[in-house]
Amino acid sequence: MKADPDYQWVEDKIRLNEVSFSEHIVRELLGRRVSLPGIISVLTSGAVIEVHTNPRRKPFHVAVGHECGKPLHVVFSGSGESRLAVLIAYEPTLPQWMDPRTRSKERDGQMQRNEGRCFFCGGVVEPIVVGNFDYRLDGQLHVLKDVPAGLCLQCGEKYISVETARKIDELIATQQPDEQETVSVLRFPLS
Ligand SMILES: [Zn+2]
Repeated sequence: MKADPDYQWVEDKIRLNEVSFSEHIVRELLGRRVSLPGIISVLTSGAVIEVHTNPRRKPFHVAVGHECGKPLHVVFSGSGESRLAVLIAYEPTLPQWMDPRTRSKERDGQMQRNEGRCFFCGGVVEPIVVGNFDYRLDGQLHVLKDVPAGLCLQCGEKYISVETARKIDELIATQQPDEQETVSVLRFPLS
């Protein structure tokens, strides 16, 4: 946000390392869908295209920039007096965005009538079947396959219905695993 004095604080926070990343960002980084340099570049040299206010929480800001030639949106909150909170990052695409700076209005109106919205980013949530749904029970990692869910087309957050949650509970309580997989474990180095 080089040219915008209103957002000088964002660069200051990055320089001072007063930045927190949401779990969503951590997942996107681990999944290699975004990179840390990409996020930082949007926050330092991108442009804010939307500010969303809500009486119950701090405003959040949508910034646009580029990562390796692809458009990238980074949603953040915070202020000069608090930390910079980096909330979500995604590539703006149809049906949500006509181009990186323009929301697709027609589709927007249609969605508001028919479908749910993402709690985090306000994106359209559409029904899909999730190939792998990870969860932990008593410290052990389990994977559920082929779970019906809602997927936010914008930020990738997943939602499940109450019925699906009940079925998952039943499955866990009554069924033996269908198969076993090994998982890779990386331990964060202690300093
Ligand atoms: Zn979302």
